[in-house]
Amino acid sequence: MANKTKKISVQTLGCRLNQYESEKIAAQLYPYGFERANQKEAADIYIINTCTVTHKADADCRAMIRRASRQNPNSKIVVTGCYVDNDPALVEGMEAVDLIVNNAQKDDIATIVPAKFPDLFTEEPDKSCSTMVTDFFDHNRAWLKISDGCNQWCSFCIIPTVRGRIKNRAATDIIDEINMLVENGYNEVVLTAVHIGHYKNNQEPRMKNLTSLCKHIMAETDLYRLRVSSIEPQTVRDDFIEMYADSNGRICRHMHLPLQAGSSQILKKMLRPYDQKRYINRVELLKKAVPNTIIGADVIVGFPGETDEDFMRTAKLVESGLIDYLHVFSYSDREGTPASQMSDKIDPRIIKERNAYLTRISNKIKENALKRQIGQTLDVISEHKLQPDGHYFGVSDNYLKVKLPNSITPDKSVYKVKITTSHSDYIEGDLI
Ligand code: SF4
Repeated sequence: MANKTKKISVQTLGCRLNQYESEKIAAQLYPYGFERANQKEAADIYIINTCTVTHKADADCRAMIRRASRQNPNSKIVVTGCYVDNDPALVEGMEAVDLIVNNAQKDDIATIVPAKFPDLFTEEPDKSCSTMVTDFFDHNRAWLKISDGCNQWCSFCIIPTVRGRIKNRAATDIIDEINMLVENGYNEVVLTAVHIGHYKNNQEPRMKNLTSLCKHIMAETDLYRLRVSSIEPQTVRDDFIEMYADSNGRICRHMHLPLQAGSSQILKKMLRPYDQKRYINRVELLKKAVPNTIIGADVIVGFPGETDEDFMRTAKLVESGLIDYLHVFSYSDREGTPASQMSDKIDPRIIKERNAYLTRISNKIKENALKRQIGQTLDVISEHKLQPDGHYFGVSDNYLKVKLPNSITPDKSVYKVKITTSHSDYIEGDLI
């Protein structure tokens, strides 16, 4: 009887960097003859790539591990990622877990896992199989890691502890991987890192910073559009804004700048290296540089010592029209961070109210940004998922959700859509 194809399920929580690393792990294990299982399919081995940015993230990781174990009790479960680095004993102690691999070992998973489970890895790896990330399972847009780690140590953040100091990838590797993705039909690549704005590569003298890397990518690849994921405001330098303005639309008109707080006093306690004035200045220049740029921002509510006045400064800034959508996070103590030692913690009921207040503002500013698209023609790449009423959603270059007619093929193509209508969280129009 022919050998049953072995299934691997790679599941990811957290940031785009984690999403990329999961694809990298899968690419390293495919040569052993594994087929990728989707979320609904039982697998022989599960790789769960975790996040620990908040308490909720930890709880979601534990739930994902238990779900995998229920889906196939005879499977092997490998857990990796930031939650493993933050609390290895707890994760390893979970009954369902067969192996933990911390962030520093992630690149060696293709040797660690087969050695641990020889019964599952019976075949020699197929050497002709590329271990670069050339495909993004179930995605029509690709994420690409350019660096790891962070040296900034914001007072509330656990990430420098679990991901270590900044390590940048060689631009040559980045270019090679983008060319492979373009060859595979990808029209959009999202550059991702923990601290993207601090990219540079001393081994490659021309790679002074993120701006030089973006210019290099546009010169050395035929990639249709490049998206820069979350970028720290103080690293949006004038040369970056100039490069963005001169990119003729090859850099997506979307910038996500974590604000965290609108009060400079709170920003100081967070050890954020900018104040409210500097943040506003950077956003204004980005919007001036390229019309119809959409700006997103992360905000933390309930940071220790946050007064009503502090909070209203945040609300006033995000309501000012400069920002188009928010990711609102409720402050959560992360053990070992300076903020967790601060005394003046905010009542959880107040944190909840402030989160709800900013979320309402976010919905309103987003709706305004969507309304502004009427009459515009946008480049849209569809998502994979077919919606219950038979159509697809896509993502515009300025990062807005666009309803696409069901006549399209949900592949990596770029569709031009003339926007005619806006709704609370998406827009639609005519295919051109
Ligand atoms: S920049 Fe600050 S918030 Fe971002 S990962 Fe680094 S320490 Fe954390």
